[in-house]
Amino acid sequence: MRKILLFILFIVLAIAAIYKSPFSAMYNYNKARVLYLEGKYEQSIPYFERSLFADKKGILARFYYVLALSKSKPTYSVQKKLFEMADSDITDEASKYAKSQIVYLKHNLIKGFENNYIYNAAMGNDIVRWDLRSFPLNVYIEQTNDVPQYYYTGIQSALNQWVIKTNFIKFNMTKDKDNAQIVISFKDIDENVCDKSGNCKYIVAYTEPIIANDNSLKKMNLTFYKTNPLKQNFSQNEVFNTAQHELGHTLGIMGHSDNPADIMYDNADSKKYDYIFSSTNSISNRDLNTLVLLYRLEPTITDNNQNKYENLYYAPLIMGKEDIVLQKKLDEYKKYISNYPNIATGYINIASVYVDMGDYESALKNLATAQGYANSIDEKYIIEYDLAIIYYNKQEPQKALEHANNAKKIKPTNNAEELISDIQKMMSK
Ligand SMILES: [Zn+2]
Repeated sequence: MRKILLFILFIVLAIAAIYKSPFSAMYNYNKARVLYLEGKYEQSIPYFERSLFADKKGILARFYYVLALSKSKPTYSVQKKLFEMADSDITDEASKYAKSQIVYLKHNLIKGFENNYIYNAAMGNDIVRWDLRSFPLNVYIEQTNDVPQYYYTGIQSALNQWVIKTNFIKFNMTKDKDNAQIVISFKDIDENVCDKSGNCKYIVAYTEPIIANDNSLKKMNLTFYKTNPLKQNFSQNEVFNTAQHELGHTLGIMGHSDNPADIMYDNADSKKYDYIFSSTNSISNRDLNTLVLLYRLEPTITDNNQNKYENLYYAPLIMGKEDIVLQKKLDEYKKYISNYPNIATGYINIASVYVDMGDYESALKNLATAQGYANSIDEKYIIEYDLAIIYYNKQEPQKALEHANNAKKIKPTNNAEELISDIQKMMSK
C-alpha cells in the first residue's frame, strides 16, 4: 500500500515539475504566439496562461497575454483577467497596458449609464440582487384593516412605476407569503420613537434583506409603520414616495443616492420631512441607470447561483477597488451619524463597514455606542449578533458565545441558533 502511495506521489510531482519547467513556459508561449499572430486571440489565451503558470514573470508572455485579452470579446472572465493583470504586484509594460485597457473597457461597458451612484448600491463588498431568471418576483402584501385603503393603492402604484420605468423588472402579486420574494407588511409604531425632549425618529418604512448563511438571497422584507409617531396616518404622498424608495432597496440598491433629485436619496439627510409630504417624487434617470448597471454586475449574494452568465460585468472593474468602495460607504454612514447621532442604525452600519475593512476594534467601539441608543428588538438583536460574529472572527469563542446567547434571548432565530453551534464547534477544536 505504502509503495503505491509513494509512486503516485512521485508521478504527480513529476508532472507538476514538467508543467512548471522553463521548457513548458517556452513551449506554450511559442504555441500562443502562433495563434496570436494568426488573429486567434481567444484561443491563444489558455496557452499564454500555461506559459505564465510555468513562469509567472515571463515578460513577453505577460505582455502578449494582455494584448490577447484586450483583443478578445470582453466576457466576464476576460474582464476579470485584465483587472487582475492591472492589479498584479509585478509592474511592467503588461500591467501598465492592462491598467489603460480596463479604464477603456469600463468606459465602454457603462456607456450611456455614466450618470449613476452604483458605488452606493453595494452592501459593503457585496452585490445583492435577484437573478434575472427569477422575474417576475412574487410580491405578498399583508391585508389589514388597520391602514387606510390608499396605503394599498400607493404601494401598487409604486410597484407599477418600477415595472414601467425599467422595462425589465416584473412583479407577480401572490397570496402565498412563503413563496414570496418581497414581503410587505405593516406594524405599529414603536413606543419609544420619541426621546424626552420630544424629538422623534420619523420613519415611514424600512427594508431588511434576508440572506442565508450560504450567501443566498431568500427574501426582502419591507415593513411599513401603520402611523407616524403622533399616531396619525401617513399621507398619500408619503406612502407612495416611500414605497418607491423602499422597493428600490428590495430590488438590490442597498445604499442611498447622494442627490436629492433621486428616489433613492436618503430623506434623513434633509432633516426636512415636508420633502416627502409635499409632492410625489419619481424614479429618476440616475436611479434607473444605477439599477440597470446593478443588474449587469455579477452578484455575490443572489437567489440562483447556477450557471453564471459570461455577459455579466466584473464588479471590481466597474466599482473600483474594494477599499475605495468601503471608504465611500464609511463616508455615507458618517454623514448619517452627524445628522442623527441618537439613532443606533448609523453605528451598526458603520461597524459592518469596519468589519469588512478588517478593523474589528473600531467596529466594537461603534457597536458599543449603538447599544446606548438601541430601542427596538431588531436593533438590540442585530447588535448582539454582530458582536458575536466579530468575536468569532477574532477567535474569542467565549465572548462570541455570550453575545450569541444574548441575541437568541432577544429574538430566537435560526441564524442565532446556527451561529451558536458554529461557536461551539470552534470551542471543541
Ligand atoms: Zn433607504
